[in-house]
Amino acid sequence: MSRLAGKVALITGGTSGIGEATVELFVAEGAKVMIIGRNAEKGAEMVRALGSGTRFFAADVSREEEVAAAVHATVETFGHLDCLFNNAGASTQKGEPDTVTADEFRYAMDLLLGSVIFGIRHAAPIMKSQGRGAIINNSSVAALRGHMGNYLYSVAKAGVKRATELAGLELGRYGVTVNCISPGAVVTSIFFGGSKAASGLTPGKADEKLEKLARNLAKATPLQRSGLPRDVATAALFLASDEGAYINSHDLVVDGGMIAGGRTNFEAAPARASRR
Ligand code: NAP
Repeated sequence: MSRLAGKVALITGGTSGIGEATVELFVAEGAKVMIIGRNAEKGAEMVRALGSGTRFFAADVSREEEVAAAVHATVETFGHLDCLFNNAGASTQKGEPDTVTADEFRYAMDLLLGSVIFGIRHAAPIMKSQGRGAIINNSSVAALRGHMGNYLYSVAKAGVKRATELAGLELGRYGVTVNCISPGAVVTSIFFGGSKAASGLTPGKADEKLEKLARNLAKATPLQRSGLPRDVATAALFLASDEGAYINSHDLVVDGGMIAGGRTNFEAAPARASRR
């Protein structure tokens, strides 16, 4: 298959989960891919497995200068940039409305929203000068409905959705599309609070934990199965390919129908003294 033949893609968070599945699919479809992440060992392993059409560039996407360096390294290596998938992210375990700190706020915003804002910022001039490009941002159903993610994560992802819509309005006239994907519950190591390696679990234990997670997530999904990284990768492929060329400022929800309705578990508030 060659739906991305001749195209160059930069994929952040390409070393795990949704990003890793997208790297593999894009390469299989003929793209050259720059893989971005912090785990250099995993990045090198992927390049060995996937071949000369891939490179790894180590960058922390919560830092603008590293995002800019990743974009420029991609163009220097492969000559142009057709697709940017702003995918990297992590869960933000802390920072609820009544406890949030400035540090928690900055961490969540820099990682989840700043990475997208500055990814667009540094890719857009290149794509404008080419007269073509597809930017895809990874949002979440947490941007669309309560109790799908915690407070700061959901706020940041709502920002990703709106940044997508507004950037698409500005860049569309230059032939550059900007869209986001809102995945539902996808079985990845984000639920460990980091990569499998960072979780400290043995590979066997990590896989066991993921299988259990898949069974639990399936129960909250109308399709009765959890999402898989490839479900999101195929959506990204569509948006990056020429087939998706007329789609702009759009949020493609990939959740098995989860946000159409279904279960939400509201916990009862603890008993409190009457105000009177
Ligand atoms: P994952 O398997 O944990 O992958 C996260 C990726 O992000 C890793 O490749 C990690 O690479 C990279 N990353 C994290 N922090 C980074 C940083 N500061 N700089 C550079 N790279 C960083 O999780 P995933 O589920 O695939 O998550 C991918 C995206 O999907 C995230 O934006 C997440 O919010 C979104 N999403 C996931 C779900 C879900 O249910 N899984 C649902 C909705 C949205 P290194 O370890 O190499 O740094």
